Amino acid sequence: MGDTSLLSHGQPPAYLTFASLTALGLPNATTTRHCPGVASFDEPIPGSPFRGDAIRMLTAAGLDLARVSYAKQVHGAEAAQAPAGGGFAGTVDILVTVEPRAPLAIFTADCLAIILYDPEVPALGAAHVGWRGTVRGAVRAAVAALGPLGARPERLHAAIAPSIGPCCYEVDEPVTRELARAYPDRWKAWATPGRPGRVMLDLWSANEALLRGAGVDPARVENPRLCTACHPELLYSYRRGSRGRLVTLAALP
Ligand SMILES: [Zn+2]
Repeated sequence: MGDTSLLSHGQPPAYLTFASLTALGLPNATTTRHCPGVASFDEPIPGSPFRGDAIRMLTAAGLDLARVSYAKQVHGAEAAQAPAGGGFAGTVDILVTVEPRAPLAIFTADCLAIILYDPEVPALGAAHVGWRGTVRGAVRAAVAALGPLGARPERLHAAIAPSIGPCCYEVDEPVTRELARAYPDRWKAWATPGRPGRVMLDLWSANEALLRGAGVDPARVENPRLCTACHPELLYSYRRGSRGRLVTLAALP
């Protein structure tokens, strides 16, 4: 897996945890392809996206799946407060909560899952961010959605789950046109030339910059920069043809 701040659990690893969030006392996990029991792209949500194996493995990570909240993710920037008892939170890409020990779940297979945590409230957010979510400012919307719960940007800790990196994320003109429209002076800093008419897009740097712009201290953003497309033995990548999904979860202590 190379040099990363993620810790592996199981052999082969069934899930990974963020060292920084764990140090703050926050139960968290990102599953790998070796964690059965997580719904795939072919399976409908709503309906519980977790089955026996995943529930057992994630219980070991300190996550109570009986209280998990999840959404129908649509590459937008809308937020919802997680239902107190868990379950389906709606058609959104951002979940927030102040409920102790109630996990938030974001499903991905190349997109970014971003966890936000203010330990003083405490308040927790989780966002699903691909290129469309980046264009729509989903991570800024996630920071904003935590405000009414009492969170402050300068107190937030953030973590970016394994997702597709600039090494593998080639995009074409329909994508760059939208990025240029949303961030005319900034987007080129997040792209390097690819094949003719294409660029390699760095959604990690883009969202780190957007977090900084939203008032989050870069020193509190953990990004292991682990690329899903580079690690087919461990992770799922939609770009690489995977039909499975990773799930990133976190819960307040
Ligand atoms: Zn890669």
